[in-house]
Amino acid sequence: MLRFKSLGSGSAGNATLVEARSSTEVSRVLIDCGLSISELSSRLGELSLTLTDIDAMFVTHEHTDHVGNARQFALKSKRPIWMSQGTQLATQALGWGLQPTQIQTARDHQVIEVGVLQITPFTVPHDAREPLQVTLTDGTFKLGLATDLGHASAHVIKALQDCHALILESNHDSDLLRMSKYPSFLKSRISGPLGHLSNRESAELLRHLLNPNLRQVVAAHLSERNNTPQLVIDALCPVMGCEPDDLIIAHAEHGSPWITLE
Ligand SMILES: [Zn+2]
Ligand SMILES: [Zn+2]
Repeated sequence: MLRFKSLGSGSAGNATLVEARSSTEVSRVLIDCGLSISELSSRLGELSLTLTDIDAMFVTHEHTDHVGNARQFALKSKRPIWMSQGTQLATQALGWGLQPTQIQTARDHQVIEVGVLQITPFTVPHDAREPLQVTLTDGTFKLGLATDLGHASAHVIKALQDCHALILESNHDSDLLRMSKYPSFLKSRISGPLGHLSNRESAELLRHLLNPNLRQVVAAHLSERNNTPQLVIDALCPVMGCEPDDLIIAHAEHGSPWITLE
């Protein structure tokens, strides 16, 4: 059984909890730690979990809304933290000072085993040093996670094939972004090929990922200023042929409910 839950999503802080269970073992991985440790502890506490119930963390890239408090997590939990070499170099510049044994190097398409969970990182086009997103499986079900990417490369589309569930970035509405008060350099960065997926680009990616086993899509990393849940529903639901209630939208603060694949 594989289940997952966004604990928070968006530029204010990202964290996703993924859990796999066999008859004898439970494994939990946290993807990113953009929340403060007290906020993370409190959101885990609502699930009757503590930091040490997490077996490992995977940091996708060095932007603050993802790497944020991963260092504090590492110091308190003593758990391994996986990230690319490039993300390590970028975070060293932040003065991390963790034990080298605690930081593990993740590479594109090199499977990471955490108990009964397997994580497969894949490279994404984003303006960070060496950003990786991930798919996770318990051997039966496959979850794909893809936020913080400027466009859907062939590599991304290939990595996300045959998923039973997807957490997919639907960052902004292009018209809202264009009309926003953001400075032009920021608009260019967000909408550029190394920025974030617009609703239309997310819908186009989703079109490539449809498969008979796909059960649940979670739209994530929505811009608070340049998007609305309704615009995301209008873009994604026609592709999925689903009702608006069938699409889950990860909330900036509350994340998503548990989604279980069994
Ligand atoms: Zn982000
Ligand atoms: Zn980012």
